[in-house]
Amino acid sequence: MSQVAIVTGGTRGIGAAISRSLIDSGYTVAASYGGDHESAKAFHEATGAHTYQWDVADFEACVEGVAKIEKELGPVEALINNAGITRDGTLHKMTPDRWQEVIQTNLSSCFNMCHAVINGMRERGYGRIVNIGSINGQAGQYGQVNYAAAKSGIHGFTKALAQEGARSGITVNAIAPGYIETSMVAKVPERVLEKIVAGIPVGRLGQPEEIARAVEFLVSRDAGFITGSTLSVNGGQHMY
Ligand code: NDP
Repeated sequence: MSQVAIVTGGTRGIGAAISRSLIDSGYTVAASYGGDHESAKAFHEATGAHTYQWDVADFEACVEGVAKIEKELGPVEALINNAGITRDGTLHKMTPDRWQEVIQTNLSSCFNMCHAVINGMRERGYGRIVNIGSINGQAGQYGQVNYAAAKSGIHGFTKALAQEGARSGITVNAIAPGYIETSMVAKVPERVLEKIVAGIPVGRLGQPEEIARAVEFLVSRDAGFITGSTLSVNGGQHMY
């Protein structure tokens, strides 16, 4: 039986590139998504990835989603917490709803999903968890107190869980992407994006596949001595 990997938000953008690369490495991939059925259907038809819809911000939905995947595909060996959203605005204009939505979707989702897979990984003595953080969780960003707090939280979460999992053969790492060409970045106004690109030493946006390759390495058996680390993949924009 091939190994099973869950990629949350795995049907579009960076997550889709991660799902594709894990399929190419021989994983059976369960790609979850939030609500964009059309993209999920197209992704399934193009790649054969198994797709599952639930809200990663909902603890019970994560428990049920993981149980369904394990029943249909087998034990989960790798979890990539990639699903994320932005709800930008300066603090004085940010509603509590926008704060909560981003914290729940981007950070509590890591708790929800890790909680659902960790006991199985502990029992089997092996697991790979990769959490997708952000350069803006490392450096902060104007108009993103919610997003920066959630992503910064992911980096602390990763280091703590890495310590808990180490003796059970479970590695937990984070990747902090810089600006990657996806629909999330397409929402940034063009003149702001021009300024951002001008500040990236390699002089361009990153591609989703460049994050996927880093994930592929961190989930490999060869990466067993790497845990609790945050790998920056940002074209040199922020050296942390
Ligand atoms: P996209 O907006 O392209 O895709 C986001 C994915 O997450 C979609 O599959 C979406 O599902 C899913 N998703 C969103 N909310 C939920 C939810 N509540 N429950 C389940 N799934 C959900 O994002 P990117 O590919 O650009 O970003 C992927 C990750 O990388 C995010 O965590 C983001 O914060 C991070 N990142 C991105 C950067 C960038 O430059 N793009 C930079 C740094 C970090 P659906 O398709 O159904 O909407």
